[in-house]
Amino acid sequence: MKTIKLLALFFVTCLALLNCKKQETKENMKESAQLEATQNEIRKAFYGKTSDGKEVDIYTLTNKNGMKVQIINYGAIITSLTAPDKNGKMEDVVLGYTKPEDYFNGNPYFFGALIGRYGNRIANAKFTLDGKSFELNKNDGTNHLHGGKEGFYSKLWTAEPIENAKNPSLKLTYTSEDGEQGFPGKLVTTVIYTLTDDNSLEIDYEATTDKNTIVNLTQHSYFNLSGKFTQPITDHILQLSADKFIPVNNVLIPTGELRPVANTPFDFRTPQLVGKDINAQDEQIKKGNGFDHCWVLNGKGLRTIGTLFHPESGRVMEVITDQPGVQFYSGNFLDGKYDTKTGGKNEFRTGLCLETQHYPDSPNQPTFPSVELKPGEKYHTKTIYKFSVKK
Ligand code: BGC
Repeated sequence: MKTIKLLALFFVTCLALLNCKKQETKENMKESAQLEATQNEIRKAFYGKTSDGKEVDIYTLTNKNGMKVQIINYGAIITSLTAPDKNGKMEDVVLGYTKPEDYFNGNPYFFGALIGRYGNRIANAKFTLDGKSFELNKNDGTNHLHGGKEGFYSKLWTAEPIENAKNPSLKLTYTSEDGEQGFPGKLVTTVIYTLTDDNSLEIDYEATTDKNTIVNLTQHSYFNLSGKFTQPITDHILQLSADKFIPVNNVLIPTGELRPVANTPFDFRTPQLVGKDINAQDEQIKKGNGFDHCWVLNGKGLRTIGTLFHPESGRVMEVITDQPGVQFYSGNFLDGKYDTKTGGKNEFRTGLCLETQHYPDSPNQPTFPSVELKPGEKYHTKTIYKFSVKK
């Protein structure tokens, strides 16, 4: 009798233990399912309402390594982008506002913005095409800057996640009517942001027109690889594969010259500390109040054109593009009026932009490569910001 009781007790204990194990595995499975669900996916959420009542959504793209990029369908703006440091710590590395209204009411610094129809300046907000002259919106003194006061960064785009894509991929489309901000032709623009397994943010730009026009799209994210938005970017190390840069006049319009970088503060052919010559006694540095110039990139086709490195965090960002130029802007107009996303203010030179594009003011510069787009043609360009670490 005693043995039977003992055997029964043994069986009951075994069953209980088995059940526990089963529960545990179920919990584990639940957890890993949840984890998987937050990786390699796109999530959509409500972001805010514009003053004229339009609802704006935010899309979070997460790759299999847990790196995230957040994009709103207002201005196709990147509001955050995380990247791992040398210890694997994910931190946001792009500047942004803390309140949706700051994106909706002018975005004074063009934080994270998709810039169109024309990246950078057009002198006197005018150009001639096929013998006809066009007057653009003047939003930078007498010049036109970044597509005008109501450029693409201030428009509501249609966003659709790309179904069954290997990597999380978001397609945004905006139709700009003929004459918008002064530009000729109805321009249909598509931008696809993809976050790949190798920690690259790929940006594919496409546009078509129904009349001869000009186009020069770019992305205006400000990077601070330290992940600390109050820390100046002067401690970053930059390399740019460019033998020449484009000098500017007092209102940052190209003079037309392509000047060799050799023996100037603009020589980043080998890696240089951003802060090294940023205050140099140099006529061009003074004009930009630091770096605010377009570099004439060596080579053609999709190629690596530069690398940004932050030694303390170990974060590296490689820039790959098919564009002829990159505007390296060292955040000289940041003036501490807005809070950063992690406390403190966005002060002078706490972020830097590497805007891949055609040269500024190309429509008025006969020697610069053409930015014309004709009906039947497809504008297609690509830029990749690839993140890694160096110990
Ligand atoms: C330009 C700067 C301009 C800034 C606006 C940059 O692309 O080069 O001159 O002030 O954008 O935030």
